[in-house]
Amino acid sequence: MTSNQLQHRSLLAYLWVLPVTLFGLFFALIAYWLGASVKHRHGVLEVAGNSRTPLLRALANQFDAITVGHVILGRNHGTLKRWRSHELVHVRQYERWGVLFPVLYVLASFKSLLEGKRFYWDNVFEVEARRFQ
Ligand SMILES: [Zn+2]
Repeated sequence: MTSNQLQHRSLLAYLWVLPVTLFGLFFALIAYWLGASVKHRHGVLEVAGNSRTPLLRALANQFDAITVGHVILGRNHGTLKRWRSHELVHVRQYERWGVLFPVLYVLASFKSLLEGKRFYWDNVFEVEARRFQ
């Protein structure tokens, strides 16, 4: 998918993911209120924290970046840049599965555990996203 295609998502793609995106926007608003910067890039909102945004710092203790619908929350601009390709794969996964994606993601992690693999690292959605890092 080219960056031009990424910037021209269909309205349907946004609507299909909207309930999850609203959840992401909630965190984005809080982060923005705490001083994070917000940019529109590749058809998604990127929220970058800084040293004064404890919410994103707490998040960053677990993740450098996380995708919630069409919102990508990152520790800072550097981590967003580093993880952008990976997180944009997660955006496409959201667009494929819509509101079912968060449930499927968790189920995929438990499937990995049941197979004796790692919860996060061997999740099939993470494996797909890592191919584009
Ligand atoms: Zn990932």
